[in-house]
Parts: sequence; structure tokens; C-alpha cells
Amino acid sequence: MIRQYELVERVRAYDPGVDEDVLNRAYVFSMKMHGSQRRASGDPYFVHPLEVAGILTNYKLDAKTIVTALLHDTVEDTLTTVEEIEKIFGPEIARLVDGVTKLSRIELQSDLTKQAENFRKLLLAMSEDIRVLLVKLADRLHNMRTIRFISSPEKRQRIARETMEIYAPLAERIGMRRIQEELEDTAFAELNPDARESIVTRLKFLSERGGDLVTRIVDQLKRVLAEEQVDAALSGREKTPHSIWRKMQRKNVGFEQLSDIMAFRVVVKDVPDCYRALGVIHSHYPVVPGRFKDYISTPKPNGYRSLHTGVIGPEQQRIEIQIRTTDMHDVAESGVAAHWSYAEGRPTGNEGKSYRWLRELLDLLEHAADPQEFLEHTKLELFQDQVFCFTPKGDLINLPRGATIVDFAYAVHSEVGDHCVGGKINGRMMPLKTQLANGDQVDVITSKAQTPSPLWERFVFTGKARERIRRFIRSQQRAQFVTLGRSMLQKLFQKEGYEFADKSVENVLRGFKCHNPDDLYAMIGDGQLIDHDVFRAIFPGVAHVDAPKPADAPRGRGRAKGPKSANGGVPIKGLIPGMAIHFAGCCHPLPGDRIVGISAAGRGVTIHTIDCDTLSQFTDQTDRWVDVSWESDAEGAGLTIGRIALVVANEPGSLGALSTVIAKNEGNITNLKIVNRTPQFWEMVIDVEVRNVKHLTNVIAALRATPAINAAERARG
Ligand code: MN
Repeated sequence: MIRQYELVERVRAYDPGVDEDVLNRAYVFSMKMHGSQRRASGDPYFVHPLEVAGILTNYKLDAKTIVTALLHDTVEDTLTTVEEIEKIFGPEIARLVDGVTKLSRIELQSDLTKQAENFRKLLLAMSEDIRVLLVKLADRLHNMRTIRFISSPEKRQRIARETMEIYAPLAERIGMRRIQEELEDTAFAELNPDARESIVTRLKFLSERGGDLVTRIVDQLKRVLAEEQVDAALSGREKTPHSIWRKMQRKNVGFEQLSDIMAFRVVVKDVPDCYRALGVIHSHYPVVPGRFKDYISTPKPNGYRSLHTGVIGPEQQRIEIQIRTTDMHDVAESGVAAHWSYAEGRPTGNEGKSYRWLRELLDLLEHAADPQEFLEHTKLELFQDQVFCFTPKGDLINLPRGATIVDFAYAVHSEVGDHCVGGKINGRMMPLKTQLANGDQVDVITSKAQTPSPLWERFVFTGKARERIRRFIRSQQRAQFVTLGRSMLQKLFQKEGYEFADKSVENVLRGFKCHNPDDLYAMIGDGQLIDHDVFRAIFPGVAHVDAPKPADAPRGRGRAKGPKSANGGVPIKGLIPGMAIHFAGCCHPLPGDRIVGISAAGRGVTIHTIDCDTLSQFTDQTDRWVDVSWESDAEGAGLTIGRIALVVANEPGSLGALSTVIAKNEGNITNLKIVNRTPQFWEMVIDVEVRNVKHLTNVIAALRATPAINAAERARG
């Protein structure tokens, strides 16, 4: 266990001006809060945050990061609150600890997150201050170092897989190579112990056979460079078992030569020296074709810069050499952390800069160059249809790209969606249809009086929002159909001299498969049932006004559908007696219309209005035309059906207005069919009982004068 004074010493070694007091207080606070808690290893729990802090001192991170590491599990695992931490350690540390706590909570749900890449993106997005992520990675590293103490094999596997799929690639993304390699190797040991064991054995054999080969190669390279006056620090190291394994998998080869397991590094003072060192090595040793890469002129997306080359080097060994400056080396080893470490006793980053750095990093990720990175990039592309937004409390809401404030509101809660009236994005009031961007904080404003608007359907993006809005509109429409159906039935009762009450329909509900009177009214209102049929069912024996057939109902028992003369006969002059007659469904001739008949062999005559479009089909068959006209009594005779095409505003009360206007003009709706619904309008066709064409024209004129009705005309075809 690292002692209190040791930890302070480590930080003071790279930051002489460090606030020792805050480190000491955090050490004591964390130890006290974790109290007697123990790890799976049996160690006091406090050892864990302490080790995490220790890992981060290797990256020379600022005191606030170290303090965050010490406190990182106090909110999640002890009674401590963020407020308490803010009181004792200030807002910045409280914010960092809160961030790590939130990441840990996502981790708990990570089983649900099938897409590792998506999850990595989420973690990046969550860590607005990259130091949060650094603490999280160090936390995971220490947990991996001690994973053997976890007794459940399933749990060990899950943690190892998560580490391999999520945390190691994340460490690579932000350039923390050392953490990446150790995470990979510890996870590898858990996931594939046999493969790792065989590689370790092979490595041991090769290095025994090679003797002091690494040292001899380093010495020779050093001498060659010194002869050409290149001042360089040299080192050689074995690659990790996992990176060898991955290479073997990728190239589908075994490993025989040390070149495949050794990496040599030349560190010089500046960029010109990098290229000079490269020239010296290339002029002394045969170059292996295809191995040279210049990551100085074209850095890797995570900021990595170096020259890479392969040569047949000292002792005839194929070796890989990386050449870089000291600065590049720091970035190669520590990545993002290098930006937070101390140079000349001062942090090189600050709050504002950390955010920009993350942005730049994400930019780099999105414009990756080499094939490996490109692959990653296209994988990322798959998830670019996502936006991560936050509630004011900091809860994460994951939405498809294109989602708006309304979608966000519905994602938070259906009730919030139903009642939203506005929204603030990052503190600014924005229209409901505003599309959200990654990292937006969205504050939805609600009002109890608000209900979903049909207009929302035009811009919402998520299925959930659309479904809720539609459901609401449907229920609202139903209410209107209930009102309309009830008033149609009521009017019919009146006409027949009966008093109407909801009780009147109770006995016939079952016959029409309705559960309550409203169901029945709604069916009448939207035209699924005819009011006359219902009336007939209620008063089976009662003679009443002959119910007109619905215009699109099947033809009934050979009876002509359409107008009848006062004595019940056909009100048409000019026909051979006994000839069958039909009224065309395309133009619905009414008494008063100018009409013409078209005969068909064996099927009688069909009556059209003279201006019906259908007639153009018969222009070259003049022998089929029959000259007909209405009987003089037809116009004043019984009622007949006129059909009207309507465009009605989709708003409360419009259907009520429709039925009122028609009733006032002595029409009676017998059938109603909605042809098309849009968020703004209903297009419908209604059949109205009228006396003649003049009566129909009056009804249409009255409808046109009604504000809720956008258009009304006689239906043709
Ligand atoms: Mn932890």
C-alpha cells in the first residue's frame, strides 16, 4: 500500500508547487469513508483508489486528477454525496468525481449495450473533461490487475471482454499506449489463457537462444548513430503477448524471428534529427521494403507521431525501429495525458482547452487516414446516426440523429412529451422542431394545458414520439365521431317522432359488436354503420322513412339505386318500359341535372349527368346513347342522395360544425367516409339526403361558408 507521504512525494517530484494539503485531506477522507470495506482480494477497499491514484502519478497528472482518483468510488460505494465533496474539495473536483461516478453507472448497464463502438463513443461523449476518462481507465487497469480475486468465472469473462472491446480501444483512441497494452494483455490472459501461455513459452525460448541479443543490437545501433554525430537515446523491448498474438492473427503467420517480437526505439532532440537518424540507419543496413512509414508528416488520428522503418540490422536480424523526438515520445506513451501533465511545474492544459482538445480528437477520429483507422472510421460511421443529449440533471438520452426537442421530451417520458410547449437547448429557448446535436443539454418546458399537436407529426423523428402523437389524435378524432354519430341518430329519432336517449341504444349494442353507446356513435360518425340500420334494429316493427343505401354499399336486390319518383317508379322519361335502370356511381345524377343514358346489352341503361367525364369513353359508340330526362314530378318528389367531397380542417369541433350546417339546411348525412388524413386536413366524402340538385347546391354553398370547411364540391367520379 502506498503511504500518504509517498503519494505526496510522487506528485511533488513533478509538480514542486503542488497543494499538499488537498492531497492529504483526500487521502484521509477516502480512507475514512471506505472504512472497513474490503476488496475481493481481502485487502482494505481503500487500497484500490490509492493504487488508481498511483497509476495516474506515472502520467504526471495534476493534483485535481489525483484527488479525483482517491475519491472516485466514494459517491458510488459510500454514504458520501457530490455536494459534500464540493463543500470540502471545491466544485471542480466535485464535477470530476461526479463524472467518474456517472461513467461507472453506465458500466453497470453495459451488458445492454451490444455495440462496443457505440459504447466507446458514449464514454468519450460523457467525458467532457478528459481527466474523467483518465481516472476511469486507471480504475479499470487496477481492477484488471486484481481480476484473479473475483471468484465467479462468468464475471471475470464479462469484465475481461468489456476491457478488450471497450476500454483498451478507448485507451488507444486517446493515445494511452501503455495502459492500452496492459489492459489488452490482462484481458487476453483471462479470455484466452492457452494462447497466451504458448506465446510466453515461445518468447522465453527465443530470448534464451538469442542470449543478450537485444542489448547487443542496441549497442551497435548506438555506435553507428554516434559515428554520424546523431545524439540519441536507444531502447529495445519485447512486445506484449497480446500484440504478438494480434499480429499473428492479422498476418496469419507464426513467429520465428525476433523482429516480430522486438521493438527498438531511437529518441532524439528534434525533427531534423529524426530524419538524420533515419538516413544513417538506412545507409548502414539493408531496408526491408514496405515497412517505412512517416507518421511525423502524417500523424495518426490519436496524435501519435514517429518514423517507422524495418531493416536487416545488426546480427542479420530483421528489426523494427521507431524514431521520434522526446515530445513525440511523451505523447506516444501517454497520449491525452501528456496534455495534462506538468511541464516546468505548470499544467499544460486547462479547463477550456481540455474541451477543445477533445473536440480536436474527435475531429481527427473522423478524418482518419490509414486503412486500419479507416476501418475504425467506417465502423464509427455506422453509429453516426446517433446523438447523445443530456437532461438538466445530467442523465443521458440517446437518440437517432435528426431527433428534435419533441423526440427528446417523449424519450424522457410520454407525459413530458404530451405536455411539452417549448425547450431550452444549452440554456437557450429554441423551437420544438429544432434538431439536437451531440452533447446538447435539453431542458423541456411543459404545461398541463398542452396536448400533442398534429403538426408535430411532420417533424418528429422517433417512432415512439410519432406513435404517441397519432394515438392522441386518434382518440381526439374518436371523440368527434362520437359526437357526430350521436347527433345523426338523435336527428333520425326526432324525424321519426321518438325521443332519443343513450338508453335507447343499449339493447342493440351487442348486435353491432359494441361495448358501449360511444362505440356505436363512433361507428356511425365515421361511416362504418348507417344510422337507419341502427334505428331499424331498435324499432324492428316500426315503419319509417325508407333508409337510403350507402353510396358504396353493394346493390340491393335489383332495386335501382338512386332517385325514385313520388309513386315509387323510375322518375326518367324516354326509356322503353321495363328497361332496367342504374344511376351512375361516378356522377350521382340528381333530379334537376341534365342527364343522358348509356345502354349496355343485357344490363339496361345507366344514367349519367351530361357533363360526366365517363361519357368520353362512349363518344364513338353513338348507338348506345339514350336521350332521357327527368319526369316533371321528380324534382319535388322524395329524398335522394347527393354526394359531396369535402376538405375539413383537422381541428376540434370541425365535424360538429359540419353536421350542424347540413342539418340547418335540411340535409341528412347518410354516409361519411374519410378518404385521406393529414395533420392539417381530412378529405372526406359524405352522402346527404336532398330533394334535388338545387337543394344540394344550397347545402354545398352553406358548407363553403363555414370556417372549419376548406372546400366543398359535388363529388364527381
Ligand atoms: Mn473503482
